Amino acid sequence: MSSLRSDIPIRKGGDESQALFIYGISGNILFINNQTVMPMIRTYKFRLYPSKSIQITIEEHLNICRYLYNYLLEQKTKNPKLNKMDTQKLITEHKKENPELKKVHSKVLQMVNNKLWGNLKALGKLKQNGHKVGKLRFKSSRNRYKTLEYNQSGFKIKDNKLHLSKIGEIPIKLHRNIKGKTKNVILKKEPTGKWFAFFQVEEEPKPLPKTNKVVGIDLGIDGYTIDSDGNKFENPKFIDKTLDKIKKVQKNLSRKVKGSNNYKKTKLKLIKVYDKLNNQKNDFLHKLSRYYINNYDKIVVENLNIKSMVENGKCKTLNRHILDGSWKRFINLLLYKAEGAGREVILVNPSYTSKKCSNCGCVVDGLKLSDRVFFCPNCGWKSDRDYNASLNILKSGLGESVVPVEGGPLLRVIPYIKVISGQVSPMSQEALPEGRGLRKPKGFRLTPSVRAE
Ligand SMILES: [Zn+2]
Repeated sequence: MSSLRSDIPIRKGGDESQALFIYGISGNILFINNQTVMPMIRTYKFRLYPSKSIQITIEEHLNICRYLYNYLLEQKTKNPKLNKMDTQKLITEHKKENPELKKVHSKVLQMVNNKLWGNLKALGKLKQNGHKVGKLRFKSSRNRYKTLEYNQSGFKIKDNKLHLSKIGEIPIKLHRNIKGKTKNVILKKEPTGKWFAFFQVEEEPKPLPKTNKVVGIDLGIDGYTIDSDGNKFENPKFIDKTLDKIKKVQKNLSRKVKGSNNYKKTKLKLIKVYDKLNNQKNDFLHKLSRYYINNYDKIVVENLNIKSMVENGKCKTLNRHILDGSWKRFINLLLYKAEGAGREVILVNPSYTSKKCSNCGCVVDGLKLSDRVFFCPNCGWKSDRDYNASLNILKSGLGESVVPVEGGPLLRVIPYIKVISGQVSPMSQEALPEGRGLRKPKGFRLTPSVRAE
């Protein structure tokens, strides 16, 4: 589920069997995803409307899976030599002693074993990276088993209903067509109380036609992205609005007696506001990342794990926290969409991107975060601070081959409403303000958004 990656993957070594990764072009480049187009897994999320009795059945199945998970973990703990195949066999044997297990589709039980081994692997990786971790914990009724996974078989869609083996029919809202072959169906109840089915579908990649255009992107607060083509995408205001609401409900919640009915009600309200914020944000990020993927062959962006550390220090407000999260999500969406479209996303080290002059390379100290204009006393280059940063980012990603034009850029400010409604067109040559543009980077021909000096 690459679209749901929670963090930016920084691969440390090339694996030829998977893809080609390029390293060491410049000391600043941290990660380049590949241009090889591979089959990709897309996840579709559909709302389910299970009846009361079906809900009871699903809960029963979840409980049986939790029991099985704990049973397998117990066996593995008693006998550490067991491998994945061994625990798999244990399921078949245990069915004889415990016929309850037969109530659940056999593939769903198999996926319980998969989950156990996935968790063991993740834990091992943490240990390897020097984290202090304990043993894998049993699933208690509080730390529940939350998903049922049908792998390859046991599911079917007919007449707007999802038919699940051993569960029954569940009305489903199919708001879009599934393209490709469904590998998995995952059933989950979200904290809002709504049920969803996640369809994991193998999709044939569709490489986009080359645009011969490259872009560097600076991620900001005022402008969500400021790019080397002089576009400033406004940070969506609904985030601020919803944040105010979140703070209000949170304050409300703190006044309620924990565990009381009012507390539970307010808590659910808070979950729903967060849910709304997430949906709004996702919609915006999907469309903004789609804009960049459609219009550029190479997209250079900062590596956020480092940016966060550089700029944040120890202070972390709620706003900042949420912004960090959405930046990561934005980059993950770029990486994910690039994979299917044959585009390249380059992550670079963000150090000095805002302090360096993109024209002469000299580092200007004493620039405050409130200074919106970058001025270089060495060469006289003057520009919007974030635009200057985006040029540095582009340079880092491509090698030192991009030079800004004198005269400074005029940013084109793009309201977020235009992004959401899909009305953003790439900058045309005519639309370029006088004296704005870049010298063409090596190996790229002039494009509408890149003007010669
Ligand atoms: Zn300079």
